[in-house]
Amino acid sequence: MKLLTVVVPCYNEEEAIPFFYEEMEKIMVLFSEKWPEITFEYLFIDDGSIDNTLYTVKKLRTKDEKVRYVSFSRNFGKEAGIYAGLEKAKGDFVVIMDVDLQDPPKLLPEMFQAIYEEGYDSSATRRVTRKGEPPIRSFFARCFYKIMNRMSETEIVDGARDYRIMNRKMVDAIIHMSEYNRFTKGIYSWVGFKTKWIEFENVERVAGETKWSFWKLFLYSIEGIISFTTAPLTFSIMIGLLMSIAAVFVILFIIIRKWLFGDPTNGWPSMVCIIVFIGGIQLFCMGILGEYLAKTYLETKKRPIYISREET
Ligand code: UDP
Ligand code: MG
Repeated sequence: MKLLTVVVPCYNEEEAIPFFYEEMEKIMVLFSEKWPEITFEYLFIDDGSIDNTLYTVKKLRTKDEKVRYVSFSRNFGKEAGIYAGLEKAKGDFVVIMDVDLQDPPKLLPEMFQAIYEEGYDSSATRRVTRKGEPPIRSFFARCFYKIMNRMSETEIVDGARDYRIMNRKMVDAIIHMSEYNRFTKGIYSWVGFKTKWIEFENVERVAGETKWSFWKLFLYSIEGIISFTTAPLTFSIMIGLLMSIAAVFVILFIIIRKWLFGDPTNGWPSMVCIIVFIGGIQLFCMGILGEYLAKTYLETKKRPIYISREET
């Protein structure tokens, strides 16, 4: 007998959970026909929900003892939920799924086959369309992936979802990366292993609404960049260097002009422009530096990634 753990991070998802459970039970019937030796467990991560998410999960548990849960003391974010799920999963295989059915359960047999029969360590999914999403959000998402992949050696696939099935080896490798600032999409790619990609068209949420505001996504993208590349630091060195070289030429120009034409006192507006410009660049570079320092500061505190309030 082998166990497959389905990790489901939930934040205020009381409406979506019943739909999710129902769909998954259908898939499990397919599984039991094809691979009767596979058993399932659900691991719901209640990420400090303020609605009846926990109650809904507990109700499911009274019906079905395959259901387990961990409930956080407050909202720690989806990344913390994923970490908790991987840490508490007992399965030989683990799959991470959103509860809103945007990660189609019908792909699961194909994904499972990849790691069970085809010799992959993991099978991941990628959205090839973003239909149903606000265009501006798609635009910025695309920009993020472009910038990120230019700057970082860790490849982050455009449209990659957190929907991924992994074997024990890969799960253990990820749990060992116990960093506090987590950007799971980067971590998956950093740990390596053989991954089979499966593509699908975007599906809209079955119930409830998205938990990610534009601002939250923006901060998350900065998190990703800071976590997986130090290129911005190199970039600020380059700007500094270019500015200094330019300054040498400007100084030479001023000295020569003074020799040739004396020293008329005009030109202070241009001076103000230069001061403001360079001041801006200095602040920008200090900000970049500060970001890295802040992340280092948080890491050195070694705070737990999540705090569990209640679990099975
Ligand atoms: N989620 C979570 N904690 C959070 C935000 C989201 O566990 O702080 C879960 C949420 O319940 C869902 C998944 O992460 O199962 C994806 O969230 P959502 O569907 O809101 O994101 P989107 O699909 O719009 O990117
Ligand atoms: Mg969603």
